[in-house]
Amino acid sequence: MTRDWLQGEAFMGEDFVPLAQAQVNIATHALNYGTGCFEGIRAYWNAEHEQLYVLKMREHYQRLQASARILKLQLAYTVDELGEITLELLRRNGYRQDVYIRPLLFKSAPEISLKLTGVADTFAVFCMPLGDYLDTSAGLKCCTSSWVRLNDNALPARAKATGAYINACLASDDARQSGFDEAIVLTADGHVSEGASANLFLVREGTLITSPVSDSILEGITRQAVLELAAEELQVPIEVRSIDRTELYVADELFFCGTGVQIAPITSVDHRLIGDGKPGKITRELQRLYFAAVRGNNPKYASWVVPVYQ
Ligand code: PMP
Repeated sequence: MTRDWLQGEAFMGEDFVPLAQAQVNIATHALNYGTGCFEGIRAYWNAEHEQLYVLKMREHYQRLQASARILKLQLAYTVDELGEITLELLRRNGYRQDVYIRPLLFKSAPEISLKLTGVADTFAVFCMPLGDYLDTSAGLKCCTSSWVRLNDNALPARAKATGAYINACLASDDARQSGFDEAIVLTADGHVSEGASANLFLVREGTLITSPVSDSILEGITRQAVLELAAEELQVPIEVRSIDRTELYVADELFFCGTGVQIAPITSVDHRLIGDGKPGKITRELQRLYFAAVRGNNPKYASWVVPVYQ
């Protein structure tokens, strides 16, 4: 289906509305201060099954609940209700292609004081067609960013807060303007945190390594899925521990993972080739397993996806 997604429907507050009418006032607290949280969910079209599958929907709404708790946002719906709203939204839009879903919970009251308590919140969700967000085949050229990740006591990365994405935009935009595909962000004490919108894995001598949740990362749902696939299907040793910047340079394989990014190999960092400069074997195997599971093509991982159409 090729039509302008802005002509579709959204959900805002209590109702489905035309997306073009789902607007906010300039006095909105969240617009002024970034006081909201959000999710990014993917739904994959399976042409053979004539079905759209929403990936890890429950996990995303559980994380939205966690973000809301940290930011003192009131979520008027349960995880089950949020799932129902999302499925109904997708049916109303009738997509038969890969879709990105964007739930948002934000301080919607016209309010200029710096408080989180007693400011009304609104839940909204919209969706749009989306193919690959970053290249997933050739390999990305990355740099470590001079922008660092804020720590948990300044701007908690664990909460997927709208305002926190200024940090991601600064890092990602500078990387692109300098000729790289994407940035890798370090913690204030110099460890590898994650990408601008993705978690990071490296492979060294057959061991799969990723940063711990205490290194200012978003607790990624794809990261968890990769850990599950690696343990179940590849039986490779796994280490969840802090990663030094120069470990990136000497890694055999490196990849980003995230809902938008999916699994995207990285083939150079700071002008140093990773391994032989091509996407690595374990990365490609994880990609193969992941893409089959998310499109509803592996019955073993049927619980990862929810069908949209009856
Ligand atoms: N880190 C950041 C900063 C992100 O924005 C995302 C995308 N949500 C991720 C990691 C990956 O998380 P997930 O796998 O849950 O999409």
